[in-house]
Amino acid sequence: MVGKRLIMMGPPGGGKGTQAKRIQERYNVLQLSTGDMLRAAIAAGSPVGKQAKAVMDAGKLVSDDLLIEMIDKRLDDKDCANGFVLDGFPRTIPQAEGLENLMANKGLKLDAAIEVRVPDEKLLERLTGRYTCAKCGEGYHDKFKLPKAAGVCDVCGGKEFSRRSDDKADTVKTRLKAYHAQTAPLLPFYERKGVLKVVDGDRDIGLVAADLERILGL
Ligand code: ADP
Ligand code: ADP
Ligand code: ZN
Repeated sequence: MVGKRLIMMGPPGGGKGTQAKRIQERYNVLQLSTGDMLRAAIAAGSPVGKQAKAVMDAGKLVSDDLLIEMIDKRLDDKDCANGFVLDGFPRTIPQAEGLENLMANKGLKLDAAIEVRVPDEKLLERLTGRYTCAKCGEGYHDKFKLPKAAGVCDVCGGKEFSRRSDDKADTVKTRLKAYHAQTAPLLPFYERKGVLKVVDGDRDIGLVAADLERILGL
């Protein structure tokens, strides 16, 4: 079994959140989605949220300093002690370097960086069909992951769902550009460090999950 400090990387809509959630449950580690943290900050009207909102609506990346500080603080919380899977962070080389520094300062070692690989032409459909349970945050898809009973969340029984405003086709294009220009360079960065693990994300959710369990030695 590889250790319990993981990064989940991949393009928007690649399945990072879906797989990170499964790892959280199977592996007893905490999923930390920076996108969720930023959306919570926006909903709360906090200064961080105010700074992030326009950038996120435009499909661009929020500032490195803000993200690094957010993660630096969050990893000190008790619920991260058994391990974590970072979902959506780091997204730039400065963030990756920032993570390396802050983990070194805390005496922590990164065990694996997982790339969920999905070709661009699949992502638009993944993103425009995505929705989540408003109550518990469970993720669904119009075509690829329907609740067992129509309109009712499998996990909590909730009946309200929401869609992200940045999952519209035109914003998705900007997000994909940002991924290729700013985030894809992290793949060779982690490969050089010997921690990169690639999983083929262009298959059924269950098959991707099984492959990941094998890779992580679960
Ligand atoms: P990310 O966190 O990388 O943006 P998500 O996990 O939110 O991606 O997945 C995006 C959408 O695609 C969601 O609606 C999810 O249910 C769906 N999805 C995730 N993995 C797969 C898969 N392997 N095949 C088809 N659809 C998927
Ligand atoms: P997805 O699951 O589709 O990849 P996320 O929920 O991870 O999207 O992120 C949504 C938005 O939040 C991003 O488009 C970006 O504006 C912002 N964001 C999230 N994580 C980061 C990060 N590490 N650095 C900069 N911006 C981020
Ligand atoms: Zn629910």
